[in-house]
Amino acid sequence: MPPENTTAPAGRTLPADQTLLSVRGLQKVYETDDGPIEAVRNLTFDLGKNELTCLVGPSGSGKTTLLKCIAGLLEPTSGEVLLDGKKVTGPPKKMAVVFQEYGRSLFPWLRVAENVELPLRNAGVPKGERRERVAEALESVGLGHAAKQYPWQLSGGMQQRVAIARAIAYQPEVLLMDEPFAAVDAQTRADLEDLVRSIRKRLGVTVLFVTHDIDESVYLGSRVVILSSSPTVVQEDIEIDLPEDRDQLETRALPRFTELRHHVYEQIQKAKQGFRPDDARV
Ligand code: ADP
Ligand code: MG
Repeated sequence: MPPENTTAPAGRTLPADQTLLSVRGLQKVYETDDGPIEAVRNLTFDLGKNELTCLVGPSGSGKTTLLKCIAGLLEPTSGEVLLDGKKVTGPPKKMAVVFQEYGRSLFPWLRVAENVELPLRNAGVPKGERRERVAEALESVGLGHAAKQYPWQLSGGMQQRVAIARAIAYQPEVLLMDEPFAAVDAQTRADLEDLVRSIRKRLGVTVLFVTHDIDESVYLGSRVVILSSSPTVVQEDIEIDLPEDRDQLETRALPRFTELRHHVYEQIQKAKQGFRPDDARV
């Protein structure tokens, strides 16, 4: 079934040589006992290499659905996802995902270091290198001391840091994060935001970060893609023209930060009230 609305404004697209990941005309309709639910109608945008893009939208706007389609965990109804120009048909090796429900994403019978090591083992990374990468990743999330503990011995925030360490140790080219900090305290959250920015810089990884926190999207992103309410289209795709070096206090105190934040806030309010870019054209 082709998307009904082919005039919806697309997100930003890029020349092929700058693009790592492309979402093209993505539509997802869930078949349920009560009939079809069109969660995502028509999404098109590109992620550039080494870019940190935040995705915001009202609850139920299909953010998780989109991420699952990108991760190859869910098949789009129409449209496609391309990684390095190749269609994604299953979980790509170059990708790692950090989900919101970290409690369920760690194996309770494995120690912290073993949880982080598992994907490396599955990828056939030699033992010595595995050890190094695990130690380094745990260190970078401030959990060097917790390697031998079990996940259930840690707080929620620490468990989420284990999930992030696991993704970093894997050294993916694309890191997808679905509201990863929703359940951690404010201080940890600020630390983890800065960690994500530094990982992107250090490892050159391309990040797609889903959040419903507007301040977080502006602070973290080099771009913010705003989704409409469901059935979802791209409402706006804006560049965050803040200085590259960001600081929790200084950046958030910049007048430009406040302007961008206002702008995103207004757009989300509009989306929540059911405004859709295509409606405006009718
Ligand atoms: P978000 O992550 O933005 O909150 P979701 O992607 O979880 O949004 O959900 C988008 C829409 O799709 C919602 O209306 C939700 O109820 C519906 N949905 C999500 N998963 C399923 C599913 N497995 N079966 C049927 N409907 C679903
Ligand atoms: Mg979600």
